[in-house]
Amino acid sequence: MVNGLVLFAKVAVPRPLDVLYDYSYREDVILGLKAGDLVKVPFGRTQVVGCIVEAGLPVPSAAESVKIKEITQKIDPEFSLPEEVFKLCKFGAEYYQYPLGEALFSAFAPSPETKKATRGLSKKAKARQELQQQNRTTRSLNREQDQALEKIKSQSLVKSDSVFLLQGVTGSGKTEVYIEAAKHALHLGKSVLILVPEIALTSQLKDRFEQALHTPIALWHSAIAEGLRQVQWLKVKSGEIRVIVGARSAIFAPLVNLGLIVVDEEHDATYKQEERFRYQARDLALYRAKLASCPVILGSATPSLESIQKVKEGKIHLLELKQRFSARPLPEVKLISLIEEAPVVHPEVKTVFALKTIRAVQAVIDRGEQVMIYLNRRGFSQFVLCKDCGWIKKCSNCSISLTHYQRKRELCCHVCGEKFEIPSRCEQCQSHELKGMGSGTETLEEELKILINGAKVLRLDREMITSQGRLEQTLDDFRDLKANILIGTQMLVKGHDFPKVTCVVIVSADMLLKWPDFRASERALQTLTQVAGRSGRGEILGEVLIQGYDLGHPVIQILTGELDQAQFIEGELALRRELHYPPFSRFVRYRAQHEQLEHLKQKVERMAQALRHELSDEQQARLLGPSEALLQRVKNQYRYDLYFKAKNVTELFTVSARVKKMAQIEDLQLTVDVDPYSA
Ligand code: ADP
Ligand code: ZN
Ligand code: ZN
Repeated sequence: MVNGLVLFAKVAVPRPLDVLYDYSYREDVILGLKAGDLVKVPFGRTQVVGCIVEAGLPVPSAAESVKIKEITQKIDPEFSLPEEVFKLCKFGAEYYQYPLGEALFSAFAPSPETKKATRGLSKKAKARQELQQQNRTTRSLNREQDQALEKIKSQSLVKSDSVFLLQGVTGSGKTEVYIEAAKHALHLGKSVLILVPEIALTSQLKDRFEQALHTPIALWHSAIAEGLRQVQWLKVKSGEIRVIVGARSAIFAPLVNLGLIVVDEEHDATYKQEERFRYQARDLALYRAKLASCPVILGSATPSLESIQKVKEGKIHLLELKQRFSARPLPEVKLISLIEEAPVVHPEVKTVFALKTIRAVQAVIDRGEQVMIYLNRRGFSQFVLCKDCGWIKKCSNCSISLTHYQRKRELCCHVCGEKFEIPSRCEQCQSHELKGMGSGTETLEEELKILINGAKVLRLDREMITSQGRLEQTLDDFRDLKANILIGTQMLVKGHDFPKVTCVVIVSADMLLKWPDFRASERALQTLTQVAGRSGRGEILGEVLIQGYDLGHPVIQILTGELDQAQFIEGELALRRELHYPPFSRFVRYRAQHEQLEHLKQKVERMAQALRHELSDEQQARLLGPSEALLQRVKNQYRYDLYFKAKNVTELFTVSARVKKMAQIEDLQLTVDVDPYSA
């Protein structure tokens, strides 16, 4: 019997290990093996599914080859990663410094072994779709929209992977431009990827695109059930589905013949994955577009400084929509200073609302219109405080105050999820005077029910919304006017379009403005603009009420129209340039962890010192730290950070390699976050 030629392959396995493994295979048994294929391989004592990174390699030296194990089996090529997605993962793993194995597996369908399940539209969603279909008359773009679209089409002919920044005030009709651009791509026989920042938004946008494009659309995000996800993955890969509306992970979807990528609300921080594979989907979109030779539209009312700077450098084309559609005016902004006007005192509740706010909300409700109330979660989680000594109950694993859930009667850690009983007395001074402080969406709901006549309140936050179904139900109920007040955190901010909402309340602007982060002002502007943009999208003029202590901040002045946004951006850019912050550097965070604080401190300081020693004076100025992480301790691990502002990718990689080496020597667990967003 003649054996076929023995070849070798490099295989990535889904383990957080920065190595590839060698396996052998017989050319005549496993045919045409290539990068992106899935294989079953022996790994330790078990079998795992791995992804081929390189195949067809010649036999290494005879001595080495004996030790090498053989690939057990090739998995149906139906499940292989397309070349484009494989390359995208490879690029991402390298840039974000994450093991290739794990990075690759964020792009795969769930394993072929999982059961298949299908899900149709709920009855409710169908009914809504039909209704909307009836309502939808053929629309034509207005002049600004049309000019933007024409520019996209013509410029893409000149350079197929052109990038556009569609900057349009909220309600200016950016989505209509996306739709027309998508139509165009579909006409050319191509597929379309639409990224949105929030899961809560995907189904609303999906409906809108579906009606306009008359083609099946896949929703793509982490909350989609596994069975459905697999079915969709295969349909997308085969070209049966050509349009995806999805959250950041959709950037790895196996779309074929991609003709357009849209990144809606491109400034949004949720495009950055904050754990494990810490990629930025907007930035990867630009890379994928290069691979696919297709255009990208980045849309926002308040673009990131990164994108604005690229416009200045001529790398991105700016398209502007300066007016709300059909010239509906932007809402009127009213400031309510909590210094001048203390919150309402009411016998039944202690509240965070000023009297002016309550009156304004009441008036809106009385007119039969709707209100949205935005609460910035960061500053407002509830906690239990001792009135006598100021003690706050913190998580015993992490260094943060526990959140108090009235309804469930428990304390819960937002970071590690551990639950605690509500203490009956202070653990520091034994006093019984314990008090729930701060305000969560749950408390606001209670307060509003008491303070507002006829309040029918819905909440949109992570605790309430545990499934896609519930989320859609809440949004539907609000749209169907079953409630007149919707309270929410970040989820509320994003592009929901509710024409009956004429009043938006920002409960406290302060926390947003004061967050310790070089992006604080930029992000406050983005968030506040977005929230404000929810008001007055229908026929009636809207209003925005901003409560806060420090309302003289430039960002607030932009909202009230006292300060020009462009001028503010110029100032921010100048500051960033001077301090070497992005977009003028590649910012990277090295976070070391250890369970013993003193140990950690010593080791990190030693690392920083050694590193400084190797850097030039000029480079040293760009190394920050070590400093305690904002969340000093999480899950029993203390955390210290070093930051480096690298001039370019090469410098980023060399310094990172050094830091990794040092962490290894010091035996510290290290996470690298390139272009980090959160503190
Ligand atoms: P944005 O995405 O910029 O926030 P949208 O695309 O949601 O804005 O548009 C805001 C509102 O204006 C929506 O209700 C939308 O249906 C309407 N609109 C926008 N463009 C048109 C158009 N060309 N014809 C009819 N209605 C439009
Ligand atoms: Zn915890
Ligand atoms: Zn006490």
